[in-house]
Amino acid sequence: TLKSMFEQTAAKFPNKEALVDARLGSRWTYRQWEEEANCLANALSDAGVTKGDKVSTVLYNTAEFAITLFACTKIGAIFNPVNFRLTSQEISFIIKDAKPKVVLFERATAPQLKEIANERTHINFWSIDEQQDVVLSRYYYDVLEGADRTRPDCEIDEDDYYAIMYTSGTTGVPKGVLHSHRDMIDQALLLAHTLNLTQHDRGLTVAPMFHCAELHCTFFPRVMVGATTVILHHFDAQEMIQITREEEISTLFAAPTMWNMILQEKFSKKDFNSLRTGLYGGAPMAPALTKRLHQALGVQLIQAYGMTEMGPAITVLLEDEQLSKAGSAGRALVNHEVRVVRTREEGPADPADICSSGELGEIIVRGPSMMPEYYNRSEETAEALYKGWYHSGDIGYFDEDGYLWVSDRVKDMIVSGGENIYSREVEDTLFDHPSVVDAAVVGEPDEMWGERVVAYVVKKGDVKPEELDEFCTSGERLARYKRPRRYEFVSELPRNASGKLQKFKLREQTERVTE
Ligand code: AMP
Ligand code: MG
Repeated sequence: TLKSMFEQTAAKFPNKEALVDARLGSRWTYRQWEEEANCLANALSDAGVTKGDKVSTVLYNTAEFAITLFACTKIGAIFNPVNFRLTSQEISFIIKDAKPKVVLFERATAPQLKEIANERTHINFWSIDEQQDVVLSRYYYDVLEGADRTRPDCEIDEDDYYAIMYTSGTTGVPKGVLHSHRDMIDQALLLAHTLNLTQHDRGLTVAPMFHCAELHCTFFPRVMVGATTVILHHFDAQEMIQITREEEISTLFAAPTMWNMILQEKFSKKDFNSLRTGLYGGAPMAPALTKRLHQALGVQLIQAYGMTEMGPAITVLLEDEQLSKAGSAGRALVNHEVRVVRTREEGPADPADICSSGELGEIIVRGPSMMPEYYNRSEETAEALYKGWYHSGDIGYFDEDGYLWVSDRVKDMIVSGGENIYSREVEDTLFDHPSVVDAAVVGEPDEMWGERVVAYVVKKGDVKPEELDEFCTSGERLARYKRPRRYEFVSELPRNASGKLQKFKLREQTERVTE
């Protein structure tokens, strides 16, 4: 269990620096971290939290997040980290669905909680900042003050649920993904191995901790081996560069868009001298960006591809494959199976209907960290886990060397004149142009062709649509029917907290223009 993993690390490395809050400069050893988790676990029990109850956090990256998580494992409470960037309506939906007994929040997220707090439910609201304006809430450190500091006595089984994480998936309604303790141990072992982590590593947590990419792919593996975690409250490119240098960070995860923003900053290779492995994933990275990063940082990165339902990582592209297979999602992790299968008009794809190499289809996967179910959604669970395989909703293919390429989300694919156009091919081509900083394509209605491609581009310098059109169509870059028919230059693209493009926002924008 995560509980025993944490207690074991604390016993092995009691005086080792475990947590650093980069914003406040506060530091915890593993022993101190465990003592505070014990104390909070008792406080949660005092507030009526028992095994199987939920505890939500609406927190940015904070030490209190890390403490709450392990406090929950100690009493078998199900941890529910909520995306701090959601609107108050979305947060209310999640909280009503998960029904936590306690919600932890901070000053920055208080505005999004006012609505649900005003409904006077039986939820306890605890604020980690002293000043809060959520009704009836208590100050976290006052709560701790009154609690017993001894290790609580509670039996946890490896198959007990550790967390419930909400993902919007393909339908738009947030679904709670349940993961067991065992799922996380399997995932952490694999990632600790892939990243070659040891107790001497110093990791930076800069991507949002509520998302499994950061939490499961790098944070847990670090705790497993007794490494140090430096926590940055939220992403800021300059601050990230500075902390990496000052705290001698050797390993970190960042979404492709964060790496891209770092590239726009002033830095020298020296700033990343201590960095041994950098992980990226959660969204595609264009091959051109991979190459630019490699040149600028002098560090080879590792890519992970996966999804919340799978724990999340299922494939990785290792350091020495970055340039030769740039753009590919790599190959399956040990114990994981990945297939590309033919989609059907009705119902989930059949896992036995396997595509040949080079043929596009839906990516389906299975492995030890696969979610057992969505919380209270048996129909969606049955569909997503049809015949024991998780149906990702991603389209991709295997090349003849067995590397996986992710081409698009099923729902983002553009159909023009009866031909399928996969976003990534067009976006990756645009990225090849030196003036393109960021790019996204979506379909807009077209009388003649059904849909046509519109490109949203963040540019540097003075590049004209005609020049990009010429670039896309010259040589063998892109078949003519795939090229963008219209360009919109924007200052930034809509992305969620974990760096994924929010294409629905671009589509809404396109509809407004077309009307
Ligand atoms: P989530 O469960 O919110 O993390 O979303 C998972 C989805 O993110 C996947 O189904 C993919 O569409 C996308 N994704 C994650 N990692 C990658 C990657 N390395 N390359 C391309 N897409 C990715
Ligand atoms: Mg499992």
